[in-house]
Amino acid sequence: MTPAARVNGLGTTIFTEMTALAVRTGAINLGQGFPDSDGPAEVIDAAVAALRGSENQYAPLPGVPALREAVLEHQRAYYGLEPEDVLVTFGATEAIAAAILGLCDPDDEVVIVEPYYDSYAACIAFAGAQRRTVTLRPPEFALDPDALRAAVTPRTRVLLLNSPHNPTGLVLSRGELGAVAEVCIEHDLICLSDEVYEHLVYEGVHIPPATLPGMAERTLTVSSLGKSFSFTGWKIGWCSGPAELVAAVRTIKQFLTFAGGTPLQHAAAVALRLPGTYLESLRDSLRAKRDQLCAGLAAAGLQPLVPAAAYFVNADVGQDAAQFCATLPERYGVVAIPTSAFYDDKQAAPTLVRFAFCKRERVIAEAAGRLAGLEA
Ligand code: PMP
Ligand code: GLN
Repeated sequence: MTPAARVNGLGTTIFTEMTALAVRTGAINLGQGFPDSDGPAEVIDAAVAALRGSENQYAPLPGVPALREAVLEHQRAYYGLEPEDVLVTFGATEAIAAAILGLCDPDDEVVIVEPYYDSYAACIAFAGAQRRTVTLRPPEFALDPDALRAAVTPRTRVLLLNSPHNPTGLVLSRGELGAVAEVCIEHDLICLSDEVYEHLVYEGVHIPPATLPGMAERTLTVSSLGKSFSFTGWKIGWCSGPAELVAAVRTIKQFLTFAGGTPLQHAAAVALRLPGTYLESLRDSLRAKRDQLCAGLAAAGLQPLVPAAAYFVNADVGQDAAQFCATLPERYGVVAIPTSAFYDDKQAAPTLVRFAFCKRERVIAEAAGRLAGLEA
């Protein structure tokens, strides 16, 4: 048995697999979600300055003070939140992993919403905990409060939420979040809120769960630099919230990776302090790319479900999506991911395919042109 297989049968992630397929076939990679252009030059300059300025040793375990302060300022300025503590992590991924490991005992349950980002299930398995899923169904992907209630049992410890949502682009409304808050308060759950797409919202507004009454004291909010500033490879993330919850994450983190990425942490502080116009223009440019790809998919005879947020559009390909994606690179030179990869219930959205639109306009145009050759 391979080591990976020992952990709940987990193998290579779909993202790694699809990017390898794109490299092998020379296809356009609309599979794994990462931008194909860099973030702001000032932020790169700040990283270089930190590298040259001897910021090259371990960071303090909680993170460099400038970045922790910048995260607190950000939470205050955008959402009026005053978290008690903040911890810098190796991307949102580490914050989520360490949170689940730090907050769950074996056999505790974590409620997650499917489709879900793949690391959630893996981290729940690492903790020896169990996942219980609430299913979002196309075309609306609405969160059903009754289904959420039904997923909670006396063993439930954490509700792991992700809004804005990967892969659907769903942005939870105040009404939906009200139902979430009710469930969390009634069952005394910790809300672990993954908000990595907080600034990539094209319709509606992002409402952090921690801003709802009774939620700040039970919510651990996670975000990162990757999506908001187009530096996914830097893996600078953070979590903030009640001191006790952040302490649980910090305890685990010190034994996972301790504290590093010091020069990039300094640059991340500069990024978070850029004028808000930067985030507005990123959002506007991504909205235009979303529209461009949706138009291209529609012209190719696929049915795009126009997302309100994030990096991805799901399109109905009218046939088994896994088979469609397996042959798409060879046939049309495009890589995409079957949306069923994000579901436990493989029949919930069997004909949907997730395409990433966080790419340069000419790349999207080229992909759309290739897809236009699809037979009906
Ligand atoms: N959460 C979601 C929903 C994501 O899509 C991603 C993908 N990048 C992450 C977390 C991981 O973020 P990071 O790269 O900061 O670890
Ligand atoms: N979040 C990215 C996506 O959903 C991928 C991140 C990863 O490769 N782990 O495509």
